[in-house]
Amino acid sequence: MKKYVNEELDSKIYIENNVYKRLLMIQKERVKLETGGIIIGYYDEDCRNAIITECTNPPKDSIATRKCFLRGVKGLKSLLKKKWNEKNEYYLGEWHLHPGASPQPSITDIFQMKKIEHNPKFNCQEPILLIVGEKYNNFEISLILFKNNKQYFYIESEP
Ligand SMILES: [Zn+2]
Repeated sequence: MKKYVNEELDSKIYIENNVYKRLLMIQKERVKLETGGIIIGYYDEDCRNAIITECTNPPKDSIATRKCFLRGVKGLKSLLKKKWNEKNEYYLGEWHLHPGASPQPSITDIFQMKKIEHNPKFNCQEPILLIVGEKYNNFEISLILFKNNKQYFYIESEP
């Protein structure tokens, strides 16, 4: 698993290897349009560390352009129900691709995550944003936890 750490929160986010490999492939495919979906996984016993077990494909009603991705909702409800029933896994946040660009969150990205943080419908007070992008032509991920109106960046660390 890939490990990302936030020292201030003394918290880690893990990305399972198959999920990481898939994100790497998506970036390498050099698609021109943004893509994305939701993050599914779980927190460990003391609710401090998150484990990402899936980054879904874009729902069919999503809208993607070069600069923008509006995630749809089609099929997510039943997928989340299935995940919960079969594996006790649930919604952790959102992911999307910045094609050929830095994975730094845009103002719109932050605004949308704040909406999720404060929307009881999502039932997720600490949503995670994962952005796939590139730096000096290399694959790069941003991982940000939104909590108490603040943003906490997680930095990749060796296992
Ligand atoms: Zn973005």
